[in-house]
Amino acid sequence: MGEGEIREREHVRLSVVVPCFNEEHGLAHLHEELSAVLSEVTTDFEVVLVDDGSTDQTLSRMRELAAADPHVRYVALSRNFGKESAMLAGLSEAKGDVIAIMDADLQHPPELLGQMVELLGKGFDQVVARRDRKGEGKVRKLSSKAYYKMMNRLVDVRLRDGEGDFRVMSRRAVDALLSLGEYNRFSKGLFAWIGFDTAVIDYENRERRTGSSKWTFGKLLNYGIDGVVSFNNRPLRLAVWIGLIVTLLAFAYAGYVIIDTMISGIDAPGYATLMVGIAGIGGLQLLFLGIVGEYVGRIYYESKRRPHFLVKETSDPTPGPVSATI
Ligand code: UDP
Ligand code: MG
Repeated sequence: MGEGEIREREHVRLSVVVPCFNEEHGLAHLHEELSAVLSEVTTDFEVVLVDDGSTDQTLSRMRELAAADPHVRYVALSRNFGKESAMLAGLSEAKGDVIAIMDADLQHPPELLGQMVELLGKGFDQVVARRDRKGEGKVRKLSSKAYYKMMNRLVDVRLRDGEGDFRVMSRRAVDALLSLGEYNRFSKGLFAWIGFDTAVIDYENRERRTGSSKWTFGKLLNYGIDGVVSFNNRPLRLAVWIGLIVTLLAFAYAGYVIIDTMISGIDAPGYATLMVGIAGIGGLQLLFLGIVGEYVGRIYYESKRRPHFLVKETSDPTPGPVSATI
């Protein structure tokens, strides 16, 4: 690496965005590790902590950190809006030319940040850290594998297993993200949708240091459905195709029944066929009604144009806008 490149790196204006929900026990440690790592990367960095409506002492910890360290800023949301909105709040608050997103629980190793920022400087707009699934249950591993296989068939953008929210982005990539105004945000898909050159580095999965994960099986399933529905209308297309095929089969069968009745007279067997037909088609109709409902529900939410989040308090003395519809 030439001397010019080193000097260049020292002048990177770096923002690290950290969404936090009930992370009171992890924050001090996070701050310690981040400060150590970031001062090696650049002299001009800020840590933007987002309090996503925590019910514990997370916000007080943030106030203390911001008071003690000029590198730390925080935004507190008025309630829990979910990680997607918290990230958005942090991204719109970040002032840097290079912006990193990471979790508060140190599952995203801060020591990778230097390498990621350096890689970004080599002409990429996104650098994503991909984790392996070491230490996870077999069922979870298998189901995520199946999920990504299915997703990549269904949606137009390419999603890869393990590539999550731990990433470093250029200013223009962040601005592109912020320009996408949808209310339902499936950021895995959005990161892929904006495109630009993306580099990947691998790291080993880690256990959470403090607190507990906010994911339950139900939440994961909902997240999966969100992913499919928010990215295209292929499920609707599928409904149309299956509907068409079933209708054609039904017509063919009706023809057969009519001719059979004309030829061999009326007796009324076929109770089983009848029941299977009714139950099967009834089930299909409910399923497709549900799919249509998912899309209609989304239109309903999008059409309200509510802000993604409301800000309750920030570390900046100058009052900013209290809400943001992007
Ligand atoms: N988080 C958040 N709002 C929420 C849930 C989570 O800001 O409603 C934050 C959380 O504090 C953490 C990150 O999102 O920094 C990832 O959450 P978690 O560790 O629970 O997810 P996992 O690592 O299990 O995927
Ligand atoms: Mg975690």
